[in-house]
Amino acid sequence: MQASAQQLSLKQFGQGEGLGNLAVTALAQDGAGYLWVGTENGLFRFNGADFRRYGAPDGLADTDVTALFAGRAAGTWVGTYENFYRLDGGRLSVVLYQGKPIAVWPGQVGAEGPDKDVLLVTEGRLLAIARHGGDTSVRNYFTPAQIRAQPELAKIASIHVDADGSLRMGCMQSLCTVSHGRVVVDGRDAGLPADKWTSIARDAAGTLWIRSATRVFALPAGAGRFEERTPDEIRKHSLRTELQVDADGKVMTNADSGLVRWHEGGWESFGNDQDLHAGGGVTAILQDHEHGIWLGTLGRGLVHWLGYGNLENWTASQGLPDDVVISVQRDRHGTLHVGTRSGHASQAPGERRFTADAGPAAFAGHQWVAMDIDTQDRLWAGTYSGLLLRRDRAARTTLIAHQPLISHVLADRGRIWMATANGLRVLPDTAPAGAQPQAAPIPAVAGRHPQNPVTFGCADRHGDLWFASVADILHFNGHEWEVLPFGAALHGRDIVAFACTRDGTLLASTYEGLWQLHPRGVPRATRIDAPVLRDRAIHSLAEDSRGWIWVGLDVGFAVWNRNRWRLLNQTHGLAWNDSNGYTSYEDRDGSMWLITSNGLSHVLHPERLFDAAARKPVIEAAIRGGRPLAAGAAALPWTADQLVFHLANLQYEDRQGFHYRFRMLGVDDQWNETVQPEVRYAALPGGDYRFQLVAVDNETGEQSAPAELAFSITPPWWRSGLFYGLCVVATLGAFYGFHRVRLRALTRRETRLAALVQERTHELELSREEMRIRALKDGLTGCWNRSATMEIVEREIEKCLRSGESFALVLLDLDYFKRVNDTHGHLAGDAVLVETARRLKSAVRPYDAVGRYGGEEFIIVLPGLTLPADSGRIDALRGIVRAEPVDIGTGKTLAVTASFGVVGFTPGTRRDPLELVDRADQALYRSKNEGRDRISYAD
Ligand code: GH3
Ligand code: MG
Ligand code: MG
Repeated sequence: MQASAQQLSLKQFGQGEGLGNLAVTALAQDGAGYLWVGTENGLFRFNGADFRRYGAPDGLADTDVTALFAGRAAGTWVGTYENFYRLDGGRLSVVLYQGKPIAVWPGQVGAEGPDKDVLLVTEGRLLAIARHGGDTSVRNYFTPAQIRAQPELAKIASIHVDADGSLRMGCMQSLCTVSHGRVVVDGRDAGLPADKWTSIARDAAGTLWIRSATRVFALPAGAGRFEERTPDEIRKHSLRTELQVDADGKVMTNADSGLVRWHEGGWESFGNDQDLHAGGGVTAILQDHEHGIWLGTLGRGLVHWLGYGNLENWTASQGLPDDVVISVQRDRHGTLHVGTRSGHASQAPGERRFTADAGPAAFAGHQWVAMDIDTQDRLWAGTYSGLLLRRDRAARTTLIAHQPLISHVLADRGRIWMATANGLRVLPDTAPAGAQPQAAPIPAVAGRHPQNPVTFGCADRHGDLWFASVADILHFNGHEWEVLPFGAALHGRDIVAFACTRDGTLLASTYEGLWQLHPRGVPRATRIDAPVLRDRAIHSLAEDSRGWIWVGLDVGFAVWNRNRWRLLNQTHGLAWNDSNGYTSYEDRDGSMWLITSNGLSHVLHPERLFDAAARKPVIEAAIRGGRPLAAGAAALPWTADQLVFHLANLQYEDRQGFHYRFRMLGVDDQWNETVQPEVRYAALPGGDYRFQLVAVDNETGEQSAPAELAFSITPPWWRSGLFYGLCVVATLGAFYGFHRVRLRALTRRETRLAALVQERTHELELSREEMRIRALKDGLTGCWNRSATMEIVEREIEKCLRSGESFALVLLDLDYFKRVNDTHGHLAGDAVLVETARRLKSAVRPYDAVGRYGGEEFIIVLPGLTLPADSGRIDALRGIVRAEPVDIGTGKTLAVTASFGVVGFTPGTRRDPLELVDRADQALYRSKNEGRDRISYAD
């Protein structure tokens, strides 16, 4: 049993990151790559950057999520204490069984069946749930007959589908297996105690693992009986048991402390000591598509275990005397030695902790900067303080020599070389304590640094030694030394890191960058350039047995597999970003130890660094006017709203190391870059568009496969081809119409002019007559006016004188007419005048004449009338004037009378018209005097 393992590299997600509820109950990753997080209050979807909550508006009526299940083919499903939901395109819909809701309780209740059905344990039953397009069918997996025959099937607690398609179930205090339609209750026969088995898993070795609230049992492949493997860390009852097998085939289960993992026959424990703070416990374990591990905790939110399965970190918490690590070396017996800022620590094979030497002889106060193993498997170490130490197999450390500042130690065929501030020194590995190292016989070269300082050395494949000294390389072929001046090739810069490579060249870095040094012939350097190295400080260099180059930087480690570069940093699970020491160390199994100033990182599978990190850009949504565009939708109508694209990269490690590149074909063919997960376009004109998105590695420039959204917008009506066509037609039409109208107007005007001329001529003729008539008639009554009346009288006199006939002249005056005006107004008076005239005209013959003599006085000339014989006609005139009251408008009427004075003309009478009228007037005067409304005759 192992109490603790390496330090975990964890990233915590809580409310600050958008996870609204910290009681995580279930985890799943869907086919697209989204992580789904069930909590006690809502379901959340995580895209690597943001959490989006799903609740009532999305169809999730009850929000206490108990289970999540994402099948490869079966889709994503959500269980709550009250319902089971199917998830489609971000919408949740309730699944009913026989018209009733399906309650889902915590535990391992879901699996994808061999026929792609979802198998769900609910209330002791096993349901098989299938999608048929938009429909869902639910059936009981076992028939009533099967359940009668096998009563255990009435109480199912968990479900697991094996690789061969057989089903394992926790069933009524035992374990059941369904294989080829046959149900076997096989738990008890295999030595399993009675318990409610809530989780089942099979690891890479073929061992079947089962778990109850408090116990863990395992049935190794081929074994007949289960053996108990309950870890010490499980003492509490766990409502939500988890058994998960990681990508390396290791089993994990939740424990009181947090998590335990089966490793080489024992449980490794991960809890508070490893920085895993699980609150009320780990409730869910998920391994994502990148092999990252996600832990749901009760009360502490979601935890991402970075670099899971590939990076292990070691710090003072695992027994190192200091977090600042400087050197690493494994001896031939398999013990790993670590030199730190505070001395040495070692880890024997199979151990998962480091042990530091104790006591004064541990030299724990010194910085163990360089280590090497000699032919007798002893560890030699140099310290910055200048101590040359030798540690033997019995863990005794002896001070052999004291030098000024040792920066490197190299064990070479019985000799120990030391790079010191005062040049290169050497002594035999058999030297006793207090020995005096010799200065290496380096030939004197003009212009070299007087102290001859050496910082680092390495041995090449042939055993030749190479050391870096300022800007020179010192080469020792086992017999003689040569000095290779690289100052000119390296622009006069000092070498700060240095490494031998298998092709006989050397790697060196200066503050300018990384160089490949060609030591044969004239010293020559070629620059190794990559974006990942730019503006970075290079601390260490190493070439591994694969030929890969490991560059320790101030921002992590850059790895070059001679084809691609990769930056490895804390977001991948590295212990710390600031690399330390002079070199990375390759272990015997090809794994790499990377040294940082805050712990030691172990890359278990370096090759995985290059197959991971497939960036997955997705266009999450395209929103216009608050509404999402349906992908593949037919042409969208034009609107003035802007179009907003929501971007995501469904990648969970290395979140900082990328940016987006996008373009909109149809608008711009140029790629644009952004780190923002949102792109906006102002109202697009009509046309066909393709929005394309790629994720780009910041360090290497590598691009992901593109995501694309194609759509088209129909132009607004005033921008459509049809409209443009109509415009052209309308313009032409307008010109033509205008021309036609003008032409017609011209013709018409000509015609009208001709007519007008004619009309005017006619009018002139008419008006002359009219004017004449108008001059004769009274404007108000239409009777002959005074002068015309007198003319008529005159003419009648002449006629009578010629013919010998007679005529009568009647003068009449309306009675009390002034009163009409005074009482009813002048208009009423006019109306009475007009009516009286009308009545008089209607009562006379065509050749009689009615004239207005003045005011309210009328003269009537009645040719051929003889008096007193025809006086009846005069009476008739008086009668018609007074017969009916006259309508003066506004509904009022007035009684009207007139007084008459009549004179007859006979050929014997004087021919003076005025005299004639005067005589009538005298008769009229008489009528007035006699009381009005009467007729008087002149003598
Ligand atoms: P008598 O019975 O004595 O004739 O009484 P009278 O009120 O008719 O008296 P008089 O002949 O003196 O008044 C005539 C009035 O007729 C005076 C004048 O204002 C009015 N008059 C004359 N011409 C017009 C006219 O064209 N329209 C109207 N409304 N009134 C007229
Ligand atoms: Mg009068
Ligand atoms: Mg009058």
